[in-house]
Amino acid sequence: MADVTESLLAAGFVETAFHCPSCGLGGTSLSRPASLLDRTCLDCGEPVVTTVFERFSRG
Ligand SMILES: [Zn+2]
Repeated sequence: MADVTESLLAAGFVETAFHCPSCGLGGTSLSRPASLLDRTCLDCGEPVVTTVFERFSRG
């Protein structure tokens, strides 16, 4: 894993997968949990479905 990713995760970011039901755009990104509530599609601007990956949780 890249150092920058480790830094983001340590800063409270989570890895997420997103999918746009409207245009089909999808992918993964690192996001702050607080910003997940109003994610919109980069392509068409419609709300996207976001899934948070848990595989990086510590403990
Ligand atoms: Zn879209």
